[in-house]
This record gives sequence, C-alpha cells and structure tokens, in this order.
Amino acid sequence: MTECECSEVHQRRRVVLTGGPGAGKTAVLELIRQFFCSHVKVLPEAAGIVFGGGFPRESDLECRRAAQRAIFHVQRELEATGDSHGPAIVLCDRGTVDGVAYWPGEPDLWSSLGTTLEQQLGRYDAVIHLRTPLGQHGYNQQNPLRTESATEAADIDARIAQAWERHPRRFMVEAFSDFLDKAERALEILRGEMPECCKRHVVPVLRDRPRHANGIEPTRPAQGG
Ligand SMILES: [Zn+2]
Ligand SMILES: [Zn+2]
Repeated sequence: MTECECSEVHQRRRVVLTGGPGAGKTAVLELIRQFFCSHVKVLPEAAGIVFGGGFPRESDLECRRAAQRAIFHVQRELEATGDSHGPAIVLCDRGTVDGVAYWPGEPDLWSSLGTTLEQQLGRYDAVIHLRTPLGQHGYNQQNPLRTESATEAADIDARIAQAWERHPRRFMVEAFSDFLDKAERALEILRGEMPECCKRHVVPVLRDRPRHANGIEPTRPAQGG
C-alpha cells in the first residue's frame, strides 16, 4: 500500500464497484488495494463471505432469497466497518442494490427487507459499473461451454445495470478489448471521487505501459483464449 503524505480526515464518500461476471472487478480492486493509500478502504465482497463461509447455495426460491437477505445484511455491516478509521473513500465490492439482480420472484427484495430502493441507492455517492465483455471479447467462442456462460454472464450484467439505473451518479465502463484500458478508465473515475491528496497515487502497470507518441493506443489483439 502507498503512503499518503496527508493525514487529514476527509469527508467519507462511499463508492460501489460493480459489474457482471468476467468484467475484471477483482483485478481492478487488487490494483487499488496495492497502489492506493489508507485513505481508500476496499471492502471484501459480501457474497464471497456468505457463500465462502458455507451458507447453503441451493437453487430453490426460498434458499436463494435467504442467501440474498444474508448478503444484504453482511454488506450493510461491512460498510459499517468501512466507515470506521476515517477513510476518504469506502470502496464497496458491489453494493446492496446488486441483490435486485439475483432476487427471484415476488414480493421484491426491498419489501422482504423492510427498506426501499431509494434508501439503498442513497447509501452510495457513486457507482462504477464494469461491463461484462460480449462473446467476442475475453471469451473463447470455440468452446460451447464458455459460449453458454458468456450469455449468462451478459444477462447478469444487464440485470445489474438495470438494478442501479436510477442512481444519479452512475458511471459505465464499457468492455475494452484490452483490460488495462478498462482498468485505467475505472481508476480515472475513482480518482474523481478522491480528495486532492490522493489523486497523485499512480498505478505502475498503467503508468508504464507503451503508448503511441500521439497518445492513441496501439491496436492489440483481443484478450482471451
Ligand atoms: Zn488528504
Ligand atoms: Zn492518499
């Protein structure tokens, strides 16, 4: 982690990084964890804690709903830990509103939890959505299993996009063929949310990458395979 020269306490801003499967969220968060300072608190993903901790992962409606409620409560409490120790940015690996994309049937998630979409959107100052790459980027179309999962992934990505669509400060990061272009764009947006002292922190892998003299990126083959 980088040290920040500034030791002031800044007004806390809560930012969500979200996106469908295969969007590169984990890799972007890892860059932030490594190269930003303690002003930026990166939270773990609630679903990872819940399922990784052994919460039953069944496909029936009751169990899926129970899991989404558990994820919601863990997310809320993770955010409570994030707010302590005076960070400038609490960066959430998904937010409570992501649950809408995974919630099956009626009544909806919010009435089941006694809250509203408006209240939950209001928890976050900004939302950065990393789009899942379409089939031709990042997924191997020769493999029918991968094609199938690419369709599913795009579907979840679309549901997440819809869940957050009413947030007033949502940034969409399209799926560039080069992951580093995408990471750069996401970090640029995050920098816009940071206090002045933190805007200088650099990510070496992004700073040192080759560029054309005119600033236009060289064409690279698509990732994947
Ligand atoms: Zn500062
Ligand atoms: Zn800093």
